[in-house]
Amino acid sequence: MKITRMQSHVLQYDLPEELGYSQQYYARRTAHLVEVSTDEGITGWGECFGPGPIAVANKGIVEGVIAPMVIGMNPMDRDVIWHKVYNLMRDHGQKGMPMQALSGVDVALWDIAGKVMGQPIHNLLGGAHRSKVPAYGYGMMLKRESVQDHVARFEDEVAAILDMGFKATKMKTGLGPEADVQLCAAVARGVEGKGRFMVDANHCYTTSDAFYVGRALDEMGAYWFEEPVAPEDRDGYRELRAGLKTNISGGEAEFGRWGWRDILENRGLDIAQPEVCALGGITEYQRVLALCHAHFTPVVNHVWGSAIAVATNLHLLAAMPPLPGGLFPWEPMLEFDTTHNSFRDELLQDSLNIQAQVSQNGGYVSVPKGPGLGVEPDREFIQKYVLT
Ligand code: CA
Repeated sequence: MKITRMQSHVLQYDLPEELGYSQQYYARRTAHLVEVSTDEGITGWGECFGPGPIAVANKGIVEGVIAPMVIGMNPMDRDVIWHKVYNLMRDHGQKGMPMQALSGVDVALWDIAGKVMGQPIHNLLGGAHRSKVPAYGYGMMLKRESVQDHVARFEDEVAAILDMGFKATKMKTGLGPEADVQLCAAVARGVEGKGRFMVDANHCYTTSDAFYVGRALDEMGAYWFEEPVAPEDRDGYRELRAGLKTNISGGEAEFGRWGWRDILENRGLDIAQPEVCALGGITEYQRVLALCHAHFTPVVNHVWGSAIAVATNLHLLAAMPPLPGGLFPWEPMLEFDTTHNSFRDELLQDSLNIQAQVSQNGGYVSVPKGPGLGVEPDREFIQKYVLT
């Protein structure tokens, strides 16, 4: 069996309204799908993390850099392919966009392997520790509006997300420490007695500002404080984890086993959030997961993008061993974007119907059972939204 073709499809559409997080506002949604074809007619699908122009540039890496290295190789040789590509790209980028590009290719190879063996990816990984996963709903994004308007909107949105059936929710901050504490207080009031809430700063604070917000979160009972400081600020992470009660989470901007080894040894994370579509794909995710568990750091995957990324993560969450285990063990959650996303809702021939599952099954989502990813994109939909 041989790889015959490797194609990137960058999809894009204009959002009905602009959304924001602490670093920028954005008005378009992008998804970067990778399609790997074989001489036996089996096609695999993967996804690369990275929006807008990042996705367009990553398409150049997938098709212009990685494809010539691997066309003609056996797609079942996932680890051989991974190391060939990584070793040849190492001098030009051990992190960032080359790894995002490799990730989408690797996920597509796992989809092919599952289809060849007639097994879902979670079985290739050793089987399902759980058949369903609780989902948390994220929303409460930033907009160009006043602090008071943010507070009022977050009050409405947290109620709406809980009404959808989610038992946990995540909000953005980034208006400045004092305004951010007001936003967090509104969400804390909204979830009281009904669920838990998490706060995502997308690394907008200095360490001292993160302590100001984090001490308020300690009083409000937030479950985690995500990316409080820049990913490079290892000392900040370690000081915050030692000084706050609230769990410190992060890792979506880290890549590969060597980067993860360093942030785990730094002891700055209570909860690790690896992004499979960025850090190096499923092959590398398995090594990162083992490193996290070797440090007794629980994992809640970072999830972003289309239904391909959601399906990939459902298999990984199913196959994640309990840590440390018990009658009522600590359980991971599926991160789920509740904002407008056609690539999540309409891309597949058979939708995962996550929202319907959440509302009907007490906040839980079942794991796909078909071979490979267990989902297939609709080619007409891809043609309609393809940017390049
Ligand atoms: Ca985040």
